[in-house]
Amino acid sequence: MAAIEMKNIVKKYADGFPAVNDVSIDIADGEFLILVGPSGCGKSTLLRMIVGLEDITEGDMVIGGKRVNDKAPRDRNLSMVFQNYALYPHLTVYENMAFPLRLSKTPDTEVDERVRDASALLELDEHLDRKPANLSGGQRQRVAMGRAIVRSADAFLFDEPLSNLDAKLRGQMRTEIARLQRRLGITTVYVTHDQTEAMTLGDRVAVLKKGVLQQIASPRELYEQPVNLFVAGFIGSPPMNFVPAQVDGDRLQTPLGPIALTTDRQREAARGKDVLLMGVRPEAFEDAKLVDDDKRAKGDVFTAQVDVTEWLGNEQYAYIPFDASAEVSSQLKELSRELDSDQLRTQLIIAIDSTSRVRGGREADIWVDTRKMHLFDPTTGENLT
Ligand code: ATP
Repeated sequence: MAAIEMKNIVKKYADGFPAVNDVSIDIADGEFLILVGPSGCGKSTLLRMIVGLEDITEGDMVIGGKRVNDKAPRDRNLSMVFQNYALYPHLTVYENMAFPLRLSKTPDTEVDERVRDASALLELDEHLDRKPANLSGGQRQRVAMGRAIVRSADAFLFDEPLSNLDAKLRGQMRTEIARLQRRLGITTVYVTHDQTEAMTLGDRVAVLKKGVLQQIASPRELYEQPVNLFVAGFIGSPPMNFVPAQVDGDRLQTPLGPIALTTDRQREAARGKDVLLMGVRPEAFEDAKLVDDDKRAKGDVFTAQVDVTEWLGNEQYAYIPFDASAEVSSQLKELSRELDSDQLRTQLIIAIDSTSRVRGGREADIWVDTRKMHLFDPTTGENLT
C-alpha cells in the first residue's frame, strides 16, 4: 500500500490547452479518494497520469515516496479497473482473474489460492469456469475487480466502473466496492461524474472543473460548506436553490420576499455588497403550517405560488417559480455560462414533509431556515459564508 502525492500536476495535450491545470492532491495510505466533475473536467486524464498511461507535462507524481513520472505503468504496481472492464473474452473467469499473476510468473499454487480468495470475497466461486459473455453486467464488473485485487498492488484505480450498469445494480455494486475497499484497506482513487457515487463512497472527494481543482473535502463538508457556486450546484440532488438578492441592511430583498440575515457570517458577507446570490438547499424549507413557533422564530416565512408537487412517500418536492427582474435574469444567464452550471434557474425545488397539504396551483406559506443560507458573490461565485 502507498500514499499518492500529486504536486502541481499539469497536462497539456497537443492543442496546448491544459486539460489538468496545476492540481495538487495528497492521498493518504489506505484512503478512498473520489475524483468527480462534469464531462471533460480532466478527471480521467488525472487518473491516467497516476497509472502511467499518460505523460505528465509538469509537476511531480509521487507514489509510496518515490517519483514515478518516468516509470512505465507496469513498474508502478497499481491495479486499474476500467469502465468497459477490459476482460479477455476467450478466457474463463478464473483465467481472467489469474492473468496478472501469470504475467508476473507467480507459482500455480499461489495463483490458485489468490484467485479462490478473491472469488470468495466477490461471490464468484460458482462462475469460475464461465466465459465473460455468459455473465451478467454486475458479474463482469466483479471479475474486473477480482482481477484488480488478486495482485498485492499499492493502490486501486477505478475509472467510472459502474457506468455500464443499470441504476439498481449500480447501487448494489456501490456498496460492494465500499465494503471491499474497507476490508482491504488499500489506497483507492475512483473517478466518476456521478455525485451520488462521490458522496457515498469516498473518505474525501476532489471536485474538478475545467482541469482546475475546486475543493477537496469530506462529503459532508462539501455538502455543508461548498467553497463556490460550482461545487454548491454540483453536489446535492435535487440541487441547491439559487436566488438573486438585493442587500437591504440586515435583510435581503428577494423575489420570494424579504429574508433576514441571521448569522454573523451572513451579515459580514453582505456588508458593502449590493447584490448577492442566496443559496439554500431544498431541505432547509418546510411547509410553514408544520413548523412550531420556536422553529418559526429561527427562520423566515414567505408566501409562494406553488406550481407542482411531487409526493415521494417519505417526503415531497414542491416546485415554486419566482420572478427575477429582466436585468437579474440576464446576469444569471451570464453567470450560468461562466460557471458551467445549469443550476441557476428561476424556480425553487424544495423538500417538504410528506404530510404537508401544500398542492400545485395554490398559494402556500413556506418557512425557510435562514441559518442554513449561503451567500455567493455574484461575479466570482465564491461562497462568502
Ligand atoms: P469524461 O467524463 O467525459 O470522460 P473527463 O473529466 O474524464 O471527461 P478527460 O477525458 O480527462 O475528462 O478530458 C479532459 C480534457 O482533455 C477534455 O477537454 C478532453 O477533450 C481533452 N482530452 C482528453 N484526451 C485527449 C487527447 N488524447 N488529446 C487531446 N485532448 C484530449
